[in-house]
Amino acid sequence: MTVSNKVVQHCQTALFDTSVKYDTMSNIPLLPLRSTETGILDIEHGAKKKQILMKHRIQDNASELMQTAIDAGIKSGWKERTDKLDEELNIQPQDYTKSKETFKTHATKRINNLFRKNIEHKGQGKSKVQHLKCGQPNWNPGTMKEYLIKMTRNEASTIFKSRSRMLKVKCNYKNMYKNNLSCRACGQTDETQDHVLNQCNQIHTNNSNKVRPELYFNEDVTELRKVAFNINTQ
Ligand SMILES: [Zn+2]
Repeated sequence: MTVSNKVVQHCQTALFDTSVKYDTMSNIPLLPLRSTETGILDIEHGAKKKQILMKHRIQDNASELMQTAIDAGIKSGWKERTDKLDEELNIQPQDYTKSKETFKTHATKRINNLFRKNIEHKGQGKSKVQHLKCGQPNWNPGTMKEYLIKMTRNEASTIFKSRSRMLKVKCNYKNMYKNNLSCRACGQTDETQDHVLNQCNQIHTNNSNKVRPELYFNEDVTELRKVAFNINTQ
């Protein structure tokens, strides 16, 4: 899937305004949630990728001056940093003998794995991240989800919020509702996301608009449109 500037812009304005670092209501970091959907690396991992690709690129045609700087082994300098990166990513000297494309594929895979590992580490103990991860066990870093490209801003936002448990139901924002979590429709049980979307007998008088989690974790855009509509009309 080729991702145009327009799409990236769409994502950024719709859900992923990167100047917003935290979900304002729950105060949880948005990065791990965004990354699973957009596939976009954060600044740290993006910089690592650039460095490692540059190291491959200049190895054969580095100017003498640059080579001198590299060989000098200045502390915290280029060589030390990229050697450390090789170690972190388990990139071997012989990998640098591969062609540009082969090396790029290899390095990208390693960076994406590291990114995934770090994101998952950061998300430990955070129920929103866990929910999103469990719904998508095969999350593939570096890949943008189709729904972000094909759906409207409002639809995509609904799917993203469902996946990351950011729909405005009480149990998604326990700090705000800690004194009273009971369902505003039926009053019989806690107002969890699943209760509102799938179980509440006041909201769902029949089965027609019930939304189970596997529906919003579906990747079929036509299906997701119906799901977004159902969620938005509840
Ligand atoms: Zn209810």
